[in-house]
Amino acid sequence: MTIDKQLEELRTQIHYHDYLYYVTNHPEISDNVYDELLQNLIQLEEKHPNLITNDSPTQRVSGTIQTGFKSIDHKTALLSLGNAFTEKDLYSWYKKTTALIGDPNPKFVCELKFDGLAISILYENGVLISGATRGNGIQGEDVTQNIRTIKSIPLKLRKQHLNLLDVRGEILFPKSKFQQLNENRIEQGLIPYSHPRNTASGSLRQLNPNITAQRNLDIFFYNIGYMDRHNITSHWEQLGYLKELGLKTNPLNKRVNSIEEILDFYSIWNNNQNALDYCCDGIVIKIDDLDYQQKIGANNRQPKWAIAYKFPSIQATTLLKKIDVNVGRSGVLTPYATLEPIEIDGVIIKHATLHNIEYIQKKDLRIGDQVVVERAGNVIPQIISALTNKRKGNETSFQMPHKCPTCMEQTIKEDTFVLCINAQCPAQLTRLIEHFASKNSMDIEGLGIKQINSLVQQKKIKDISDLYILDVDDLLDIDRFGEKSASNLIQSIENSKQQPFYRVLTGLGIPNVGNKTAEILCKTFTTIDDLKEASVETLNSIPSIGITISTSINNFLNNPINWEMIDRLKHSGLIFYSNSKFEKNQTLNNITFAITGKFNSFNRSELENIITDNGGTTTRNITKKTNFLILGDSPGSKLNDAKTLGISLITEKEFKSMIDTKIP
Ligand SMILES: [Zn+2]
Repeated sequence: MTIDKQLEELRTQIHYHDYLYYVTNHPEISDNVYDELLQNLIQLEEKHPNLITNDSPTQRVSGTIQTGFKSIDHKTALLSLGNAFTEKDLYSWYKKTTALIGDPNPKFVCELKFDGLAISILYENGVLISGATRGNGIQGEDVTQNIRTIKSIPLKLRKQHLNLLDVRGEILFPKSKFQQLNENRIEQGLIPYSHPRNTASGSLRQLNPNITAQRNLDIFFYNIGYMDRHNITSHWEQLGYLKELGLKTNPLNKRVNSIEEILDFYSIWNNNQNALDYCCDGIVIKIDDLDYQQKIGANNRQPKWAIAYKFPSIQATTLLKKIDVNVGRSGVLTPYATLEPIEIDGVIIKHATLHNIEYIQKKDLRIGDQVVVERAGNVIPQIISALTNKRKGNETSFQMPHKCPTCMEQTIKEDTFVLCINAQCPAQLTRLIEHFASKNSMDIEGLGIKQINSLVQQKKIKDISDLYILDVDDLLDIDRFGEKSASNLIQSIENSKQQPFYRVLTGLGIPNVGNKTAEILCKTFTTIDDLKEASVETLNSIPSIGITISTSINNFLNNPINWEMIDRLKHSGLIFYSNSKFEKNQTLNNITFAITGKFNSFNRSELENIITDNGGTTTRNITKKTNFLILGDSPGSKLNDAKTLGISLITEKEFKSMIDTKIP
């Protein structure tokens, strides 16, 4: 094969897998295989730089920083839509349009109205050549370098389309990605962003396309602005054609025949907005037939053949009554607002988080202010702004307290954080136990915040490990518990001992180590001891484990107080080894072990479990049937028995390698 052909082959394959991954959400190959393909392409292109094409998957990020955005004239105007706010508005539009076309039962297409950033993208002979924002509808900003970094926007169409094609879509910041971005910002002491739409816009209009590339923006295409000769007769066919070209369209789009179906579509998505990973502020209804669209036309840059039916407002104005602080499990004091209760779209809002003092200062929020509250993007309500023109002069600024509101100890300031560093602070212990017992960690039923508060206040628990030495009598000492609820709780604490390593690791509350990070760590490290031994550099070399997390793990596990607590948890029988390495298989089938001495990575019962999980058996005494004696530190009399009977001796390390690689 010629180099040209090889390059083309690789690019086609990578484009195809990008399409599967980013557009259809159904990848066929693993990330590793994908990386291999990409590496092959990069290496081949490095050897033949003159053969690099603009639509190569390696050319998404240009690396050059722009000095400003040029203007681009749109091929045809980017129209904005008229709005309907009530069912009555919708009916009147419906009557008018059906009368205009003289067809009482035309078809309509219902789509979600995305709360993002409208974009026009031009392809020439199937290759992306430019992208522009809406701007004033006639002329927009040239953001070609930036949109090229969005993986769900193909650099090359999947189907040959000759000449020019202008497609329209909406760039979105997925809610889940937005939340991740904010979690990272909070972790770094930065102010979180307040709305996915504004952040999507800010991310796209970056002079440095590298920043856009890091933001995980996404897109839905919903219209064709311009194309040469074609035989498409309806909007529905247009959407189908976009999909054929490999452009991501929304799978929820629906073609309907009546106003009742339009209202159904509206009410389904008005009620289920939270189930979507992107923000919508209504639905769009379009006349399907393109001839009809032509006939109805547009006025004032608004097409009359389409309308946006908006969802009820998710913003409201209310009084900021007071600001209090919560103490988190790592001692961070977080301010939150208590509001005059207000209903937004069926939900009563009483509180809103204020993140940190800088957030409050930047928005200039004062106690007594009238504030705009929004419930969007994530479900947590946000204060958008204060209505400064409504101030009466008696509003007061908020200061972070100098004493912890729970233990009354002096707080300290670290960057933007204010911390209570009292290790005995009951608020921190309460939050930590709450986290430990939560669904994502140990999932201990019946151990809610009220029960935990009582246990902490009555000094029944001083750290996590005390949970596992509680008995029914301890609980009966507390008013809150009856015979039944006490024994139920003891049982669910007992059951939690079966939770896998990554959940235990999550539960420990190591700063910055959540569920996902714990899972990654447990795939890499077999036991908590291995994890403790790992240096910051080793940890940092694992993909998606950054320096903050690495340092945090290292500090936590090498703190003697924490390690002693982990030791107590081990003795209570919690699982501190990885099931992914020791997954159930038949590696040790028909092999009989005896055990003597103490081990570094596991206690006796853990070791027995591992052997059973791998299909082996253990015996209490050495017999002729014993195949191996696993030898720990300070072995007992079994060592002599084994020597007498000529039984093979193996160390802990040798045993571990047995389960990693099959023995002959
Ligand atoms: Zn405190």
